[in-house]
Amino acid sequence: MSSESTNITTEAFPPSPAPSTPRPGGSTKKYKIETEIVYTESPDQYRSSSVPIYQTATFKQASGTEMGEYDYTRSGNPTRTHLERHLAKIMNANRVMAVASGMSAMDVIARLLRPGDEVIAGDDLYGGTNRLLKYLATNGDIVVHHVDTTVVERVTEKLTDKTALVLLESPTNPLIKICDIPTITKLVKEKRPQTIVAVDNTMMSPLAMSPLEFGVDIVYESATKFLSGHHDLMAGVIAVNDEELGNRLFFTINATGCGLAPFDCWLLMRGIKTLAIRFEKAQSNAQYVAERLEAAGFKVRFPGLKSHPQYDLHWTMATGAGAVLSFETGDVEISEKIVEGARLWGISVSFGCVNSLISMPCKMSHASIDPEVRKARALPEDLIRLCVGIEDAEDLVDDLAHAIVQAGAAKPEAFEKK
Ligand SMILES: *Cc1c(COP(=O)(O)O)cnc(C)c1O
Repeated sequence: MSSESTNITTEAFPPSPAPSTPRPGGSTKKYKIETEIVYTESPDQYRSSSVPIYQTATFKQASGTEMGEYDYTRSGNPTRTHLERHLAKIMNANRVMAVASGMSAMDVIARLLRPGDEVIAGDDLYGGTNRLLKYLATNGDIVVHHVDTTVVERVTEKLTDKTALVLLESPTNPLIKICDIPTITKLVKEKRPQTIVAVDNTMMSPLAMSPLEFGVDIVYESATKFLSGHHDLMAGVIAVNDEELGNRLFFTINATGCGLAPFDCWLLMRGIKTLAIRFEKAQSNAQYVAERLEAAGFKVRFPGLKSHPQYDLHWTMATGAGAVLSFETGDVEISEKIVEGARLWGISVSFGCVNSLISMPCKMSHASIDPEVRKARALPEDLIRLCVGIEDAEDLVDDLAHAIVQAGAAKPEAFEKK
């Protein structure tokens, strides 16, 4: 039934990357990302402002021999195409593919690997990515090297003629480690051009970082986080510039059926339109919370703080610090009390939502990592992660300060404004 074609035509949609629109006077000025995020054009017959949801599995064909643009939603759906073209514009990519979740995106990328291939990845990876790589190492005959990507040589010294994939995250979560994506990419490509460099850009979003500009092959994101922004859907996006690589990735999506469902495409499209305003507010709140916690004497990890050991490197790559930070209390039980004592901060995994969240990674998002491995990777068991939302900054600090004081981790004076 489904077409095996890997090239769904998208001629009816605006060209990508931006500039997306003909401008009065034919100016070639490129719109800023904040503008592109809200601006859409659709070929809809009724000129609907919001893309219609094509809630259909199949599309009738006009002829028994010639297939139209769409035939089966696993292979392609107009609502998904609209979302993908929109994302290509704001991610500065030639092609973006929307799939069922961030892990699904990683799975699609991992299917480029063959038995015997080697992967070089960070040692503070997202828990789910870690789990998938471990599965591949155990069942797929893939060799995975976890290294400290903050040191460029740790990556390059593992490069062999079997290295098929280098997988980077910056900043990492929850340790907020920064890696030099442009330098690593350059050195990997010099030594072995066919090695694919992929970046998980979930922590930054297209608003703060565009790793394709550093020459990486694939950028992927969990759209469950900042892109959607409301914790009401799961989605993943994969962005590439190379046409052939895009076709290989699309082949897996079509073959396995992990393309994002029409309703979720529509919901994600709606979330993306407020990305800029949400991200900016969450980011400025995070900066404020980080500064107040640091002033209260805590060891805080956040790329917006000058005390971050890789502050300068981060700002050569990114235009923002994001909205995820972590801090230590020195005691696991005290950390537990703080997490439970906060009220505005919901105890939850994930980030990028309008609401602020608090968690202990070792007990929650990273619990799937072996305690021994956590120790070897210097993941403090008492670490508290804060994922800052768009509430009032002062309310957030007051609520957190109250929980911290109640847990006995600091005196009330520590939070007095200087
Ligand atoms: C959440 C997350 C993922 C996985 O995405 P899902 O949408 O939850 O499958 C991958 N990488 C990072 C950095 C994440 O935060």
